[in-house]
Amino acid sequence: KAAKKNLIERTRYPLTDSHGRTRSTRELLRRFVPYFRPYLPVLIFDLFCAALTTICELALPVIVRYVTNLAQYNLSALTVSVIVRIGLLYLVLRIIDTAGAYFMANIGHVMGARIETDMRRELFAHLQTLSFRYYANAKVGQLMARITSDLFDVTEFAHHCPEEFFIAGVKIAVSFVILLSVNVPLTLVTFAVLPIMLLCCYKFNRRMRETFKESRWQVGEINAQVEDSLLGIRVVKSFAQEETEQQKFDEGNRRWLALKKLNYFWMGGFQATTRGFDGLMNLVVLVCGSLFLLRGAIVPGDFVAYLLYVQTLLTSIRRIVEFAEQFQRGMTGIDRFLEIMDEQPDITDSPHAIPCEHVRGEIDFDDVSFSYEDDAGEVLGHINLHVDAGQNIAIVGPSGGGKTTLCNLIPRFYDVTSGSVRLDGTDVRDLQLHSLRSHIGVVQQDNYLFSGTVLHNIEYGRPGASREDIIRAAKLAGAHEFISALPNGYDTFIGERGVKLSGGQKQRISIARVFLKDPPVLILDEATSALDNESERIVQQSLDTLARGRTVFTIAHRLTTIRGADRILVLTADGIAEQGTHDELIAKGGIYKELYSMYSDMR
Ligand code: ADP
Ligand code: MG
Repeated sequence: KAAKKNLIERTRYPLTDSHGRTRSTRELLRRFVPYFRPYLPVLIFDLFCAALTTICELALPVIVRYVTNLAQYNLSALTVSVIVRIGLLYLVLRIIDTAGAYFMANIGHVMGARIETDMRRELFAHLQTLSFRYYANAKVGQLMARITSDLFDVTEFAHHCPEEFFIAGVKIAVSFVILLSVNVPLTLVTFAVLPIMLLCCYKFNRRMRETFKESRWQVGEINAQVEDSLLGIRVVKSFAQEETEQQKFDEGNRRWLALKKLNYFWMGGFQATTRGFDGLMNLVVLVCGSLFLLRGAIVPGDFVAYLLYVQTLLTSIRRIVEFAEQFQRGMTGIDRFLEIMDEQPDITDSPHAIPCEHVRGEIDFDDVSFSYEDDAGEVLGHINLHVDAGQNIAIVGPSGGGKTTLCNLIPRFYDVTSGSVRLDGTDVRDLQLHSLRSHIGVVQQDNYLFSGTVLHNIEYGRPGASREDIIRAAKLAGAHEFISALPNGYDTFIGERGVKLSGGQKQRISIARVFLKDPPVLILDEATSALDNESERIVQQSLDTLARGRTVFTIAHRLTTIRGADRILVLTADGIAEQGTHDELIAKGGIYKELYSMYSDMR
């Protein structure tokens, strides 16, 4: 048992969210209910159908009781015409029942699917608002599991939850009343079993839900692991580590199995217990009922009807039991959905944010300090910097010195810890995020290309741009020639992340994308550092064209490319150590000169 516990490492699967919160069943339901609001008429119709089918189902014992009692006490009244009428009545009831069942299954499920769609949409929209900081700590595989498989159970849940509880509630109440009307003492004895049964169900259900949540989490982990292995497949293969990946996967898969076993352990216990109570109720009715018969306290017709009623009651209890697993799955999905919905995006529009207008591209850093985590050290401390519109600023310095971090503050990928970053004199936190980012272009070392065509990837710079504009942007980026030489030109599929292109080609497509966007402020973060000399030369030309007439921050590790910059900043762990033009800094004979001569020697 200890080994089992060890394997599962319960603590690894947080039953709480990142804020340490757990959500009670009541809270989950309370927060789920509003999703029904748009479909209220459908829901009401669904419940109406449920009520109809329930009534039809409950009618049979009444009819049987009527017929048997008639047969015993008033046989002459039981004529063929009476039987025909009873048959017709029952036929009508079953037709209504069939139609009701059809509507419930069809429109009820569609309503569930619509709710699932709404939730999925909302979740995706919410994920889009979460910031770099969130994604730096998140696993995409886990997030994907939440948006797809976790929500799959919501359809069934949304449809069945109100319906099943409604039907069960009606049936139990009606059966209780009818059973009471047939025989009071027998009913009281039979129903005495119910409270104990409910208590047991509740206990088992809690365990089921916990283990369910853990196995859900593990599915997310498997997803994340598969994603990692597959995205890194080139590294895996080049290091010949297929075996290691397989082992990691097997481990995750084994954990899942262990959790599932635990889940089914509780589920098995739950089902067996409810079944046991089911039998117990039947036993009570059978033995007590027979004793009552023996003493003449109940007539045979009533006894048969009574047994039939107890059966309908038990089927509805059994249905609830079967539904319990679905219920837990749905609740787990909703729980995991809410975990993400409760993540507050940390970078959002302030209430008084204004759009950027006529951006010139003047950037100021006023006493800016920044650290990634509250308890981590400062990456940037008291940075002051003024950049005129149209100036070309180069940032150099040791790796990890904070160059990327500094540039990330301009489009608000992160917010400053203290001080402020201003665009044309306005604090970037007072500008509308969307508007701010649409005025800033970023080219990184490794730009993400979407799986799709070349055209679609460039168009991303300005969705809806005409083909002519896209081709013009590609020409400016020096990409037109190689694109035209591709098998389908601009309509060539470039594979996931652009794997079918060379590094230089990918980079030129990303540059074309920024040309199309045409932003006044540009950040080039080691845009050429992943390229070979020949591609670097070509890409550098494209970048020089792109830089014209814009405020540009160039982070470069090849110092030759930045000799022409208006100003060069040397950023070290202690802040901006030196700044000036190339000639000034060489003449100064400081860090820059040292870096430069080291670099020249290497060449
Ligand atoms: P540079 O671009 O100059 O090489 P960075 O700005 O990328 O340096 O990183 C500066 C420091 O901040 C490094 O020590 C790095 O480890 C840390 N850092 C970078 N990104 C993050 C992050 N998302 N979370 C926490 N620390 C980070
Ligand atoms: Mg960097």
